[in-house]
Amino acid sequence: MTIWNLGSINADMVYALPHLPTAGETLAASNLERFLGGKGANMSVAAARAGSRVAHIGGIGPDGRWALDRMTEYGVDTRFIAEVDMPTGHAIIAVDKQGENQIILYPGANHAIEQDQLGQALSQAVPGDLLVMQNETNAQVEAARMGCDLGLTVCYAAAPFQADAVQAVLPYLDFLILNEVEAEQLRESTGQSVAELPVKHVLVTLGSKGARYLPKDGEALEISAHKVKAVDTTGAGDTFTGYVLAGMDRGLPMPQAIAQANRAAALMVTRHGTADVIPDLKEVLEARF
Ligand code: ADP
Repeated sequence: MTIWNLGSINADMVYALPHLPTAGETLAASNLERFLGGKGANMSVAAARAGSRVAHIGGIGPDGRWALDRMTEYGVDTRFIAEVDMPTGHAIIAVDKQGENQIILYPGANHAIEQDQLGQALSQAVPGDLLVMQNETNAQVEAARMGCDLGLTVCYAAAPFQADAVQAVLPYLDFLILNEVEAEQLRESTGQSVAELPVKHVLVTLGSKGARYLPKDGEALEISAHKVKAVDTTGAGDTFTGYVLAGMDRGLPMPQAIAQANRAAALMVTRHGTADVIPDLKEVLEARF
């Protein structure tokens, strides 16, 4: 089976600064590093590293060919990523000596996904394939609707949280994943707790506390996080999501898919970086905590 991911692709530009800039200040950075990022790209790489076939649907600009090459190198099918005449999505991340950061996010080509592009990609999907989206691209509702019509399992990571965006896709979802803060924001906007939503599988990640699985027909399940020395939690949620989807795709029972995701995300928080350092299945299975 294939995991179809309508997802963002970002260049994460990390500038090392003596302190975070204040209004009107010009500051010279002592270092610049460029990483592959974006929730979409991170999830695609995670699911591919977990052994699934992943086709990414997204957009880059002419300045983003390196990102596409890197995703291909990491095992993601990039044939449905369009190059458009605008900048690739990027995050300008200022980091001071204490590790405090300030981020400017520009969606660029992530918001230029065409209906035709989506239709062409999903015309190759077969019933039972998974479709996943996050909230960093356009066209999520169209994709969710198409996914439903085609008999795909429609999955959504409600991040970054935006109440109207989540509510618009909610009727089409089989699987919803969100963190604790997003679950609370959703409760405030719908007046329903996430357990009451009409979605077959709801998964709430709880950071260093682990995760909670709330299936529509079945027992809730709590899983504790592994005890690790966390150095960078960026991409932990995306890795978790990519691994859960890959587990579902490989036919694992949900508790097992969640346990693998919990291991993968625990390893991820011990590493600096995002897509480039997501562990593969062998590392995840062999890790000792
Ligand atoms: P997000 O990054 O989307 O906010 P969370 O912070 O809830 O997501 O983290 C996602 C998953 O990453 C958790 O469910 C857990 O498995 C793992 N994780 C996060 N922080 C830690 C930590 N400090 N130690 C071990 N695992 C962690």
